[in-house]
Amino acid sequence: MDSELTLYNTLTRRKERFEPLTPGRVGMYVCGPTVYGDPHLGHARPSVTFDLLFRYLTALGYKVRYVRNITDVGHLEHDADEGEDKIAKKARLEQLEPMEVAHYYTERYRRAMDSLNVKSPSIEPHASGHIIEQIEFVKRILDAGLAYESNGSIYFDVDAYNRSHRYGILSGRNLDDILTDTRELDGQSDKRKSYDFALWKKASPEHIMRWPSPWGDGFPGWHMECSAMSTKYLGERFDIHGGGMDLMFPHHECEIAQSTAALGHDSAKYWIHNNMITINGKKMGKSLGNFITLEEVFTGSHKLLAQAYTPMTVRFFILQAHYRSTLDFSNEALQAAEKGLDRLMKGIETLSKIKPSEQSDVDVSDLRRRCAEAMADDLNSPMVISAMFDWVRIVNQIADGRQHISAPDLDELRSVFSLYAFDILGLRDEKTAGMAAGKDYVTPLVELLLDMRMQAKAAKDWAASDKIRDSLAAAGIRVKDRKDGCDWEIE
Ligand code: ZN
Repeated sequence: MDSELTLYNTLTRRKERFEPLTPGRVGMYVCGPTVYGDPHLGHARPSVTFDLLFRYLTALGYKVRYVRNITDVGHLEHDADEGEDKIAKKARLEQLEPMEVAHYYTERYRRAMDSLNVKSPSIEPHASGHIIEQIEFVKRILDAGLAYESNGSIYFDVDAYNRSHRYGILSGRNLDDILTDTRELDGQSDKRKSYDFALWKKASPEHIMRWPSPWGDGFPGWHMECSAMSTKYLGERFDIHGGGMDLMFPHHECEIAQSTAALGHDSAKYWIHNNMITINGKKMGKSLGNFITLEEVFTGSHKLLAQAYTPMTVRFFILQAHYRSTLDFSNEALQAAEKGLDRLMKGIETLSKIKPSEQSDVDVSDLRRRCAEAMADDLNSPMVISAMFDWVRIVNQIADGRQHISAPDLDELRSVFSLYAFDILGLRDEKTAGMAAGKDYVTPLVELLLDMRMQAKAAKDWAASDKIRDSLAAAGIRVKDRKDGCDWEIE
């Protein structure tokens, strides 16, 4: 596939032509979940966005190493690096070992990602499995003179760093604003400045997640794992670093500062951020009563939901908006997505049954060109979908005999739909319960009965033909005769 891929780089605040550091290869790091609770709607958007990018780069022919981490230590309750560890807190409340909590929710996250058809990354490193690398990284920052020890903890010295670099380069914030916004927790902080952040925290006697270090027993600061693990698996320079916009500050800002302090330069060439999901116009939050887990969406068991929505409806809903636009989750929007997805899947099914004509009176190159241009333009998935909808209309006209398509054009059209709908957008047909579970039991049986019906019709055995049609109708499968052959759908 040819492409002139451009991506919006949050760091430079403009669209840039994508040129990988090593021809043919892409290194991509995306910040994954902190595994202390059920996966929720907020997890769906970054995972689908970067899955789209992963699938697209792969389709372009790149060999992609996609690293998405699991945060299972060090993400503290207040301002990310003060208070109790989120996983340790859940473990205390449920009387579990912290790693039981992390394992349980990691599994739940993976299952939710599977149902959204999000591909597994190439590597999924856990923070707790990379304590040695994180300690080494902290040492490099100390050696550079850009961190200090205070009461057994190590903090990043933002003032010292800011003399030669710019803390705030990604988020556009300056130190005065950050100082005003930073909450000072009285008597709890050993920091010199409230905007300094923890690279390593001393473990209090009751803190259970702890490891030995040159500075005593403790645990890494939240931001440290991403600098250490991206360097370990992708090298000191790599192509793409992604995550949700909510991670830009402080998390990614701190990652840039840490990597620059230790390595002398920022690691990532392109910083890509997806926008957030709001719910009925409001930010999602436990205190607002609009916190919806993915399981609640798939089963319809939350009070804000009028019905259950399938994983593919959620995926399609996310892809119908550009990843940098806001996206508001409402029953109306989800129901519209459900209808749209159904229309697209039916169109693809109709396409699979069309019989070619001698000649075409449609220009099939239009679809491939429009899809390729849209994806190359900063992953414009809504434009891809809109091009496919235009062609679903044409496909229906061909099926009704109002337009014609030649055999080579039909092959091309099928291959473009398959590439963009299934390989790149990552949609899958959930038409039947069997298919949702990964296997379609219904289609082969219906097709077999329809074959038998065709034979009955050819033999002018109208009684048999009608009986098959009526039995299918009684089972909720409607048969629609077309010019040559027939279509069927589940009602
Ligand atoms: Zn991260």
